[in-house]
Amino acid sequence: MSRSLTQLFALDSLLTPEEIEVRATVRKFAAERIRPHIAEWFEAGRLPARDLAVELGALGVLGMHLHGYDCAGMSATAYGLACLELEAVDSGIRSLVSVQGSLAMFSIHHWGSEEQKQQWLPAMAAGRAIGCFGLTEPDHGSDPAGMRTRAVRDGRDWVLNGTKMWITNGSIADVAVVWAQTEEGIRGFVVPTDSLGFSASDIRAKMSLRASVTSELVLDDVRLPDSAVLPHAEGLRGPLTSLGEARFGIIFGAIGAARDCLETAIDYAQTREVFDKPLAAYQLTQAKIADMALEVGKGHLLAYHLGRIKDRGEITPEQVSTGKLNNVREALAVARECRTILGANGITLEYPVIRHANNLESVLTYEGTSEVHQLTIGKALTGSAAFR
Ligand SMILES: Cc1cc2nc3c(=O)[nH]c(=O)nc-3n(C[C@H](O)[C@H](O)[C@H](O)COP(=O)(O)OP(=O)(O)OC[C@H]3O[C@@H](n4cnc5c(N)ncnc54)[C@H](O)[C@@H]3O)c2cc1C
Repeated sequence: MSRSLTQLFALDSLLTPEEIEVRATVRKFAAERIRPHIAEWFEAGRLPARDLAVELGALGVLGMHLHGYDCAGMSATAYGLACLELEAVDSGIRSLVSVQGSLAMFSIHHWGSEEQKQQWLPAMAAGRAIGCFGLTEPDHGSDPAGMRTRAVRDGRDWVLNGTKMWITNGSIADVAVVWAQTEEGIRGFVVPTDSLGFSASDIRAKMSLRASVTSELVLDDVRLPDSAVLPHAEGLRGPLTSLGEARFGIIFGAIGAARDCLETAIDYAQTREVFDKPLAAYQLTQAKIADMALEVGKGHLLAYHLGRIKDRGEITPEQVSTGKLNNVREALAVARECRTILGANGITLEYPVIRHANNLESVLTYEGTSEVHQLTIGKALTGSAAFR
């Protein structure tokens, strides 16, 4: 962030020296390893995810807020800052880290057996194994309770059938955490992706999150032993708790994308001359910049505040919804406004702004759409559930 915006909100006064160090380490990695290539990866619609996962593992950001099993055991706030710095480069990279650490690893860590944890978590923390999280289906996104994927007991085994859609990391995953209906309600399964009957194919022609793998998973009579079920997750609480973890990272991440757009726009406005003077010297431009700085600064404050609450173990789903709804919505508005400052240059991949704006369209939709978070907040404030 430009020094002035940090100072405007005295942001660093809210962080510990250790958190500032984590932020600096991740920012440096992102600047050196990812930023020089990201526009090309986005344009090509591909990501060297396996190599990156190993590097992100060495950096310590995979499952970095989990304890034991070779995970870094950092605070939620430090994890959030890592998400912020990664998403300042691209939401796709933060998605890789979120899905690995907060969805797949957290599910195994929180709901799994000791055997499942030993088998998967150290390899996933190191980035040697990649995980995905299969909840959404072609006909059930916001309403996962209606999922059709079924797991049926057959002797001592389970047999899974169904289709999962829009699954980040799907085709590159070694392990999929898959949620399915059973006679006992919704259960989670740890599915090695080399299981017979499991297949994944990529969703192409995306205009958003192009530097991220998004796949369809098909489970066709996938037979798993009883030890594959997540023993401690019963009902929708299982996947929803895991989603809360990933949403938390997005509260920080989205504001990183907004920060990058604002910095880019300020730089551009200072050097671009229109009507014989720099664009930054016009009142209209400064009004835009000031208004955006307020939102980016307030977004940081909200993220840091929620980070502290989470570190005390007190955060509620409504608070996570508040942060996710506000910060993603405002980040998208900032990205669009910054695009106007860049004029025609703003529509190219030479600058990160339109890439962030397009990415944020996905971020607005996944991990609970804006409307779902409005309904969650509305229910908390009015006492009336309006989901159906
Ligand atoms: C790039 C990308 C990556 C993703 N990665 C994953 C992943 O790794 N794992 C996974 O399981 N899923 C993933 N998803 C899926 C994502 O979580 C869903 O897209 C999301 O939950 C919305 O579901 P849907 O797309 O089916 O939209 P729908 O649920 O069909 O919603 C369509 C519209 O209706 C609105 N709506 C829904 N219910 C209501 C209501 N009660 N009242 C008013 N409006 C309502 C929604 O807000 C939305 O605007 C990913 C999606 C994308 C785009």
